[in-house]
Amino acid sequence: MTADILRQPEDDDKPSWAAVIVAAGRGDRFGGSIPKQFRDLAGRPILRRTVEAFMPVDGLDRIVVVVDPINHDLAAMALDGLRDQRPTVTIVPGRSDRQGSVLAGLEALAEGSAPPSAVLIHDGVRPLVRISTIKAVMAAITGGIDGAIAALPVNDTLKGVSDSGVISRTVDRTGLYRAQTPQGFTFNRILAAHRNAAGKQMTDDAAVAEAAGLSVGIVADHGDNIKITVEDDLTIAARFIIEDNDLTASVKASDESFEHCRDIRFGQGFDVHRTCPGQSVTLCGITIPAPFSLSGHSDADVAFHAITDAVLGAIADGDIGSHFPPTDPRWKGTDSAVFLRHAVEKACEIGFRPLQIDLTLICERPKIGPHRDLFRHRLADLTGADAGRVAVKATTSERLGFTGRGEGIAALAMVVLERGPFSSAADSTKRVPQ
Ligand code: MG
Repeated sequence: MTADILRQPEDDDKPSWAAVIVAAGRGDRFGGSIPKQFRDLAGRPILRRTVEAFMPVDGLDRIVVVVDPINHDLAAMALDGLRDQRPTVTIVPGRSDRQGSVLAGLEALAEGSAPPSAVLIHDGVRPLVRISTIKAVMAAITGGIDGAIAALPVNDTLKGVSDSGVISRTVDRTGLYRAQTPQGFTFNRILAAHRNAAGKQMTDDAAVAEAAGLSVGIVADHGDNIKITVEDDLTIAARFIIEDNDLTASVKASDESFEHCRDIRFGQGFDVHRTCPGQSVTLCGITIPAPFSLSGHSDADVAFHAITDAVLGAIADGDIGSHFPPTDPRWKGTDSAVFLRHAVEKACEIGFRPLQIDLTLICERPKIGPHRDLFRHRLADLTGADAGRVAVKATTSERLGFTGRGEGIAALAMVVLERGPFSSAADSTKRVPQ
């Protein structure tokens, strides 16, 4: 598609853009315990990387992420923190097939008073899409065509093969392209096309548009915009990211702010509280049923105490006892969130904030697993760390020792703090709830 055959825009208004990112697959071909779009790719979930690729795009107002409703919590965790930013990110329930899920995303955008004038549709498992590709698709639509897709020319020779496994013909590859995503369209036209095509099982949105008689052009894509389909694709994608990071690091090696980003500190903490008669314990600020309680001067939240000590350890600023002496009556019965928040604030004062928390609780009872995610999100809320980087683990001591005999609960914590860069002191503490 060349520029001279593009029509003029229908009006002079700047289009308002939204993106539909389709991630409703169940990942049957991929194996593993979670669908591929939530798998880790070089430290971040694939879906998060995909959404992050669209976040900096000028003119993009909304991102709708379509997921299978049973994976809503996984998606929320993968996108933690992004949903508070611009463009807005919302999670929408998908349907059993890709085409139905795209339609669900488009219908979500159509609701309300201000649907977009144009939309990008993108696979949730193409995390390496370049911003230049996204902008090229947008520019084509702005230029007046109904639709435009990222595509790659077919470079390999194509063979038709008979049922017996013998080559029957060589296909002329002239003018053949591989359709990728993003695929961009004027919103009302692709919405109408998808509504008409419901149930027809087409393999991409351009096919839906073509069936509706829309003009769809192509823009040149990059070879690294791969669709992560099988396990080997993860390895290839990770290699692309590492190569890109190496390049970025060499370019930025002299950048002072980047050097600050690499300033991290570690701290460890350990705490024990004795059991006493009672029916509940407070762990990570959450009170849960137990066949006993924990005794202590404060609320005896052994988990918060270990993490507080880990934060103080990371900034080499004493320990929880030196900041909150157990002999001081002010702290009797205190919510231990006060201690943890204080430690995080001390870290923020010198330019650090929690990046990662790893907590291990050692007890036979109560069972921690059912409360794990609640604990993680409470810790994330309190410390400002992303929930995706907050781990809560539990182990028994095989009925050995004081934890094995149920005489007490022990907690081990590891915390990583990162230094800014923060533009101001206020910025460094804004993530700490007051
Ligand atoms: Mg303690």
